Amino acid sequence: MRNKPIDFLGTTIQPGESTTIEIPVSKLYTHTEVNVPVHIFHGKTSGPSVFITAAIHGDEINGTEIIRRLMDHKSLKNIKGTLYAVPIVNVFGFLNRSRYTPDRRDLNRMFPGDDKGSLAGRIAKILSKNVIDKCDLGIDLHTGSNHRSNLPQIRACCVDEETRAIADSFNAPVVINTNIRDGSLRAYASEKGIPMLLYEAGEALRFDEASIQIGIKGVISVLRHMGVLRRSTKKPRNKPLYIEKTVWVRADVSGIISFKASIGQAVEKGDVLAVIVDPFSEFERIIKSPATGLIIGGLELPLVHEGEALFHIARTGRADEIETLLEETLSVEDFRYA
Ligand SMILES: [Zn+2]
Repeated sequence: MRNKPIDFLGTTIQPGESTTIEIPVSKLYTHTEVNVPVHIFHGKTSGPSVFITAAIHGDEINGTEIIRRLMDHKSLKNIKGTLYAVPIVNVFGFLNRSRYTPDRRDLNRMFPGDDKGSLAGRIAKILSKNVIDKCDLGIDLHTGSNHRSNLPQIRACCVDEETRAIADSFNAPVVINTNIRDGSLRAYASEKGIPMLLYEAGEALRFDEASIQIGIKGVISVLRHMGVLRRSTKKPRNKPLYIEKTVWVRADVSGIISFKASIGQAVEKGDVLAVIVDPFSEFERIIKSPATGLIIGGLELPLVHEGEALFHIARTGRADEIETLLEETLSVEDFRYA
């Protein structure tokens, strides 16, 4: 069925058109306008409306790059339905290379937002009202924070069949069935009955090529699954590993770390993960794995205070088999655009 024109903040977008619209947010104190740019692809044929968002945490730039490269993807010219791509949600954090907004709020705890509230609350409201409320599905792109990197993974609430099927279609190496945090975009989408995936991959303020390419392929696969893009007859390479329980391994002393394990590695309970020393080698503390599983995230900075998280381990008995698959999946040379 032919699509109808849509109105976005006073601009009419005709079926078959794509355009970038700047949503005004506020001004810098230099008098410079700050806008959240939204790129809209409005297909000739009707279909689902999907949003893709990145940099809600302003320093998580892998997702911005995923969206930038997706915009050039030729198949997006023939979509069914409407795609809203928001590469930089937290424009202030992106400018300041910071996770937070200038009022030191975590934008991903401020949904649904309040147009008379804090700056973060106002941005949340702008996104909710103008983009999220119009959609049937969403994908929010993130990275690890605070010098931690994540193995490419989907986080979703997989209790409902529909979300699980969408999570499957992204074809990330790992899917973690996670609870929803209050005030997050995912909590807001869930209240509205909009299924949503959160893609976590790589580290803040860095581009990670494997994470970017798995992200691009994943978003395209989801769009195919939803019928926004023409369905592919190719079978996905691997089924993701579903994880119900994860455990954080923390430093029990402060010091300098020598890492003995890395992200994507299978470990058994009792395996040595790291050794913490001091600058004079007067003490040495061996950190062992408390569980058998797969390392899905870890610290990249080798300096820690007591209590800091060192590794994130997904509890699974299938880690060995997954480790082998990951070696293939994360090999960047292996990647082709979908
Ligand atoms: Zn994040």
